[in-house]
Amino acid sequence: MTIKTDQIGGWEYSPALETTQIAIEPKNKLFINGKFVSPKSRSWFSTTNPSTQEKIADIASAGRADINTAVLAAKKALPKWSKLAGSVRAKYLYRIARRIQERSRELAILETMDGGKPIKESRDVDLPLAAQHFFYYAGWADKLEYAFPGVEAKPVGVCAQIIPWNFPLLMAAWKLAPALACGNTCVLKPAETTSLTALRLAEILQEVGLPPGVVNIVTGAGDTGHHLVQHKSVQKVAFTGSTEVGKLLLRQTAGSGKKLTLELGGKSANIIFADAAIDQAVEGIVSGIYFNQGHVCCAGSRLFVEESILDEVVQKLSYRLKSLRVGDPLDKNTDLGAINSKAQLETIERYIRQGTSEGAQLHEVDTNPLPANGYWCNPCFFTDVQPSHTIAREEIFGPVLSVMTFRTPKEAIARANNSPYGLAAGIWTDKGSKIFEIAKQLDAGVIWCNSYNKFDAASPFGGFKESGFGREGGLQGLRPYVNFFNKSGRKM
Ligand code: NDP
Repeated sequence: MTIKTDQIGGWEYSPALETTQIAIEPKNKLFINGKFVSPKSRSWFSTTNPSTQEKIADIASAGRADINTAVLAAKKALPKWSKLAGSVRAKYLYRIARRIQERSRELAILETMDGGKPIKESRDVDLPLAAQHFFYYAGWADKLEYAFPGVEAKPVGVCAQIIPWNFPLLMAAWKLAPALACGNTCVLKPAETTSLTALRLAEILQEVGLPPGVVNIVTGAGDTGHHLVQHKSVQKVAFTGSTEVGKLLLRQTAGSGKKLTLELGGKSANIIFADAAIDQAVEGIVSGIYFNQGHVCCAGSRLFVEESILDEVVQKLSYRLKSLRVGDPLDKNTDLGAINSKAQLETIERYIRQGTSEGAQLHEVDTNPLPANGYWCNPCFFTDVQPSHTIAREEIFGPVLSVMTFRTPKEAIARANNSPYGLAAGIWTDKGSKIFEIAKQLDAGVIWCNSYNKFDAASPFGGFKESGFGREGGLQGLRPYVNFFNKSGRKM
């Protein structure tokens, strides 16, 4: 079939704005020992709406003394919390999950306002998955002996958990739910640009009566995270973010006896074979790279297309791009919202310029008038990309796709594995045997087959190589939060 893309205009929609108003405190304090407290640092920073550049609120910036108070509160709460029966800890987790569901509309709006992601994604992906993680790990809390038969699994202690800005509430759930299920206490640091939903979660923790100190939430920038990781009473560090900071934490924690898990960047390969259902694969390409404006660690940012179908895939992708709506994230029609921050937009724009200057061909669809204020980037892709190009090697973390080709399965595997990262991959083919054959040869922690960016609390997630180590989700997600002891009580 020939699609004449030049004859297709933009798709017209009437606006469908989410107009529910939510109350936001002008000054948002730290959550320590079950209470909202002003920072001892007396320092505050503001959070803005990236789709309007308007200030939303002030957020407390935790200094070293605040971190010390939070960690000591977690340490104090630990003995009682860790000795509670698993079934009792489970009840708290179930209550948190239910309360997230009950307040999901408010949380979704806040997530969208603070981070810029489309409301349909916060509403239909982030919120249900955040609740699901608490439900799922509530189920494990009283079954740890079945999760780890033959050994005794005991909590690690006080956990420092540092999360990024791309899935703020969901990452908080990924970190807190397994830690609490295993009987640990936590100090969580959200990213500077997206602290508001974590602080709403703190309200929920108060509502469900979680004992004071079991979860503490300290807001602030990189320095706050640094103090937290350094604290001597922290026994476990869980980090999601850039590979650069991950490497820093690895050096910082080396020799300290602190357990560490790192969920870092990626440059994941999405491989389309000629025998795939092409229309379905094009949808997978779109959700692989344009979901959440491409601010996704496992984004399918390197597309490998079997050479014989390149023209068809490029044509269909160009056509599909015309139907993507970029704009107000609170509009339920919006597919791509605002870029999370000015700094991130500048990074993405730099990569796009670099792609062009290194010789790749930019395909951009510009059918939507973008709002006057805010940080915006139209979805785009590059063809004529060489593996040596910067855009084919480095994580862009934006709606920018690099399209490359291959001729044989062997070449597809070699090209996909030619990356310092190893987080995720996608395979599109109608041959089941080919899926298994290819999947087992890819260096990636998560591999989707004839789908992309599908998540479930029961499924472990994590990477190899510079994408980090440790798993979150599933039974495997419990492991970083326990120490094992043998029958004679010796640590294994
Ligand atoms: P960072 O890795 O800097 O941020 C992740 C978290 O770590 C944030 O909470 C951040 O705080 C905190 N942090 C920063 N420095 C330190 C430190 N020295 N010690 C402890 N914690 C620290 O990512 P950025 O926000 O700077 O994004 C940069 C790039 O990283 C992106 O362009 C993208 O490529 C990649 N990235 C990857 C993510 C992933 O999921 N794999 C997620 C986010 C980013 P704060 O934000 O307050 O500075």
